[in-house]
Amino acid sequence: KSSFPPYHNIVVFSHEINQSIKKRWEIIHSFQSALENQEFHVYIQPKVLHADKKICSAEALIRWKNADGTFLSPDAFIPILEETGDIVEMDHYVYDKVFAYLHERKLAGKSYLPISVNVSRLHLYDLDLFWRKLHSLEEAYPIPPSLITFELTESAYIQEIDAAEKFVVGLHEKGYRVSLDDFGSGYSSLKALSPMIFDEIKFDRAFLKTDITKKEATLLLQLIKLVKSLNTAVVCEGVETAENVALLDQSQCDIFQGYFYHKPFPIEELESVYLSQQAAPSL
Ligand code: C2E
Ligand code: MG
Ligand code: MG
Ligand code: MG
Repeated sequence: KSSFPPYHNIVVFSHEINQSIKKRWEIIHSFQSALENQEFHVYIQPKVLHADKKICSAEALIRWKNADGTFLSPDAFIPILEETGDIVEMDHYVYDKVFAYLHERKLAGKSYLPISVNVSRLHLYDLDLFWRKLHSLEEAYPIPPSLITFELTESAYIQEIDAAEKFVVGLHEKGYRVSLDDFGSGYSSLKALSPMIFDEIKFDRAFLKTDITKKEATLLLQLIKLVKSLNTAVVCEGVETAENVALLDQSQCDIFQGYFYHKPFPIEELESVYLSQQAAPSL
């Protein structure tokens, strides 16, 4: 019956496609049990101050440790959880762990640092749910809201600009900080900058690629200067090499984050890493 020649019905089903469909299916179907079985782990990556390169804050980054001990990186499962909507629940799991961590440390009179958490674009579609969940965290773990920074990506902000602005205003009313993550990675970066409603701009790690030309370096330094002139803090992520550090040392960037200083590690280890640097001579 088809008007197409029969060869149009041939499906090439390769081993690779089969494997990736299988992986996808596994992620979708094992999410709930993984959450219940504590397979999600909150990792943390410290950020250091420009001036003395000492840890001043940290970012929470999720890891999925399978029953067989292998780790899935966020890039492998977050896009899938964003399709299914499960990312919303996963993010709240991270927020719960971070609030609980800070609350416990504060109660015990131990040291603690401001912590950033990432925000999926999907929260913007149901802000009422987000505020309700945040409110229950505030009741359970009363901590100063200024200790928490919510990182919203530039692409989420640009795609959902109206909801994103409500989101930022609502967080500011409650006293939280808000950061624009992956700045410079999209095609509308200046549009994202112009209202300047963010407390902090996080420059995408693409700015610090290897073999950066003189012109690219000048552009980065001038963009940082521009953001600073708007009275906004600047963080550079993906600081990997001594060359990156030498370049940023000439800039007005406030905070450096990257493998050169610290790779992400389990949040339980933050105290010992933080305390060990307090005792060490400064770099
Ligand atoms: P991001 O928020 O921009 O986080 C920075 C990513 O860069 C992290 O990857 C971090 O491990 C990596 N990174 C840090 N320093 C360096 C460096 O010097 N060189 C290189 N090459 N990479 C570096 P990760 O942990 O794999 O996370 C990837 C992305 O997944 C994050 O990008 C964030 O968008 C998302 N993500 C991670 N955790 C969460 C979460 O709990 N919730 C949501 N919604 N998204 C998350
Ligand atoms: Mg981030
Ligand atoms: Mg980023
Ligand atoms: Mg990123």
